Amino acid sequence: MNNDRQPILIAGPCAAESREQVLQTAAALSESLAGSGLSLTYFRTGVWKWRSTPSSFGGAGKEALSWLQEVKQQYGFQPCVEVACAEHVELCIEAGVTTLWIGSRTAVNPYLVQEIAEACQGCPLTILVKNPVIPDLKLWMGEIERFKKMDVRRVLAVHRGFADRSESVYRNAPCWEIPIELKVRMPEIPLLCDPSHIAGDTKYIAQIAQIALDYGYSGLMLESHIRPAEALSDAQQQLRPDELVAMLQALVFKTTASSPAENALRKQRNLLENIDVQMADLLAKRMQIVDAVADIKEKNNLPIVQPKQWGKVEKIYRKASLEDADYEEFLSKFLELLHNASIRRQQHKK
Ligand code: PEP
Ligand code: MN
Repeated sequence: MNNDRQPILIAGPCAAESREQVLQTAAALSESLAGSGLSLTYFRTGVWKWRSTPSSFGGAGKEALSWLQEVKQQYGFQPCVEVACAEHVELCIEAGVTTLWIGSRTAVNPYLVQEIAEACQGCPLTILVKNPVIPDLKLWMGEIERFKKMDVRRVLAVHRGFADRSESVYRNAPCWEIPIELKVRMPEIPLLCDPSHIAGDTKYIAQIAQIALDYGYSGLMLESHIRPAEALSDAQQQLRPDELVAMLQALVFKTTASSPAENALRKQRNLLENIDVQMADLLAKRMQIVDAVADIKEKNNLPIVQPKQWGKVEKIYRKASLEDADYEEFLSKFLELLHNASIRRQQHKK
């Protein structure tokens, strides 16, 4: 990796669960990073972790701030913590934590963000503003502005994807056009990507991270847990420290500025790659649903081929068709292949 454009790397557990878990994760990250050519800019963890339901794990609370002081002393990692109210900011400052992030649920609420920004006024802090869960660029930019107005030392943006109910293999839709537009409109704000929260599953993290790096993002924020399977939150998307470092080492970090033509091409290619990643998985997911359909048909003695239902499927694809004879031909061939594959699969299941 080239050194003139060191990426900002942030890693650590979703939540601080216990002193042992935090220190063991930090120790393993330190060990895996040694000699890798990579270094951690911040060690992240959620100290307060209220989530959708009150019965789920809510974080260890302020006690965890002292575990982060130990991490800093023992491994030299600067801690980075999520804050969701002014009191959190005060507690972090007292504990010497000077890099804070605004979570995506907090970022939807300008009243709360304003209060937090006021608590940050005049303090030498670094603030990372995650995108709000709703795909609203103006709101994201507005929340960033609130911190800039309070003269916070350094403000960065973190792209973690957007809540989207449409069928997708990802936990959160990347909507790449939104962070890219943010980069154009606020070029002075370094943009990071949080592939863990976009992916929701470790198997997609590397692909998303590479797309972000190809876009010229300034760095990555990733979740890592010493024993992911035992994690009290976001277990499916946390990588073990050694897996995380291996994944990072396999990424290609952009080191030189690209020409305008390369940028334009990269932008379109990233959009294509993002669609391909999802189409590949959706096709496999579709076949799994075909298996479930086959079971129901077999149990109820129903015929495999049901022309009326297939007619409905064809209509769905034709509706989104382009007015182009070549594309029509492609669709016809594709639909025939899809239908045949589905029938064959149901026959094999019998
Ligand atoms: C997190 O990073 O742990 C987190 C809660 O993220 P987000 O606000 O993006 O959901
Ligand atoms: Mn998380």
